[in-house]
Amino acid sequence: MAPAIHLVKGRDKSLRRKHPWIFSRGISHVDGQPSLGETVDVFASNGEWLAKAAYSPNSQIRARVWSFEKQEIDANFFISRINQAQLLREDIIERDGLTGYRLIAAESDGLPGITIDRYDNFLVCQLLSAGAEYQKDTLVQALKHCFPKCSIYERSDVSVRKKEGLKERTGVLYGETPSEPVVIEENGVKISVDIINGHKTGFYLDQRDSRYQAQKYVKDKEVLNCFSYTGGFGLYALKGGAKRVINADVSQLALDTAKHNAALNGFTDKKKAVFLNADVFKLLREYRDQGTKFDVVIMDPPKFAESKAQLNGACRGYKDINMLAIQILKPGGTLLTYSCSGLMDGALFQKIIADAALDANRSVKFVERFEQAADHPTDTAYPEGFYLKGFACKVI
Ligand code: SAH
Repeated sequence: MAPAIHLVKGRDKSLRRKHPWIFSRGISHVDGQPSLGETVDVFASNGEWLAKAAYSPNSQIRARVWSFEKQEIDANFFISRINQAQLLREDIIERDGLTGYRLIAAESDGLPGITIDRYDNFLVCQLLSAGAEYQKDTLVQALKHCFPKCSIYERSDVSVRKKEGLKERTGVLYGETPSEPVVIEENGVKISVDIINGHKTGFYLDQRDSRYQAQKYVKDKEVLNCFSYTGGFGLYALKGGAKRVINADVSQLALDTAKHNAALNGFTDKKKAVFLNADVFKLLREYRDQGTKFDVVIMDPPKFAESKAQLNGACRGYKDINMLAIQILKPGGTLLTYSCSGLMDGALFQKIIADAALDANRSVKFVERFEQAADHPTDTAYPEGFYLKGFACKVI
């Protein structure tokens, strides 16, 4: 008998709305003994066939749907999903002049657990689910077919794989090892990406549209770029005509790359592009206590909330840094602030900024809103795909 899962009565609703997750509590019984990540048929309690999904025996999300159509989950299936994702992005690639972009945004592109970023001729995969791991060879075969010139590298060194019963893993899946950082281009800005040692797959592609928008606020301004990583926002700020940009981060490796990136783009004036190895929480307090002020503060911290249990603490962290940022802004200054915690929705983030304004005793106006870049789509059936929110605020 082909392995299959049968849902508890009434637990088919989200699946019928094409949401791809099946939770363990929604399953009444399993036919056969599917292995980690194996493809199973999914049936409603009345016996109706619903989907093909990847089985994940260790995870609360017990299965993730590959397809709501009766089709083989083979190389052709992956080729068709990959081609669809590439097609969806063609105009964005053209519009923004991209040689680096998110090719596959997991569930949002109909490939649960699979993230693939393209940096020039390297495809970097992050496989987060048992199903993604099970299909790795087939996925590589499909990628080779769609992008014959590209090498494929795996960056599955993320702790969430444990929930799926998987070990962390990195290395070449096909072709060359990236011997040195790869240079990509977006909106005319060159960025060097360290595929092997960088964060995530190497770069924060999701902030591209916000970086672009940030340029509008910086002409002739003193800019503080907090959590600068490899300098993304800082490079755009210099391009936008900032008087001076201070990039602050705790990672020296990131700062070194940021410095290299500035040079790549012709910004070699040491007084204009400053790189500070500093803990942002401490640095902001120092600036506040010394009375140092800025025209623009960019606040793009790492994800503070990885789980619901961490949400309260995350809220305090966001409030603290945003309050300090507001305190060190000149009257009429601009705060560009972001949250990539998917668990924190836009309304909650807005409330946190409101609390920060109150504590800073300043009047703050929201003037513009930002979202993840256009190559990070959100499928209508999977609202969880929307995670990155930002505001431009004027501080009085
Ligand atoms: N804004 C960046 C992405 C930020 S990623 C971009 O557009 O590319 C978050 C960064 O915060 C990382 O580089 C990490 O090294 C840094 N970081 C984390 N905690 C920090 C802290 N307390 N002080 C300064 N930097 C910190």
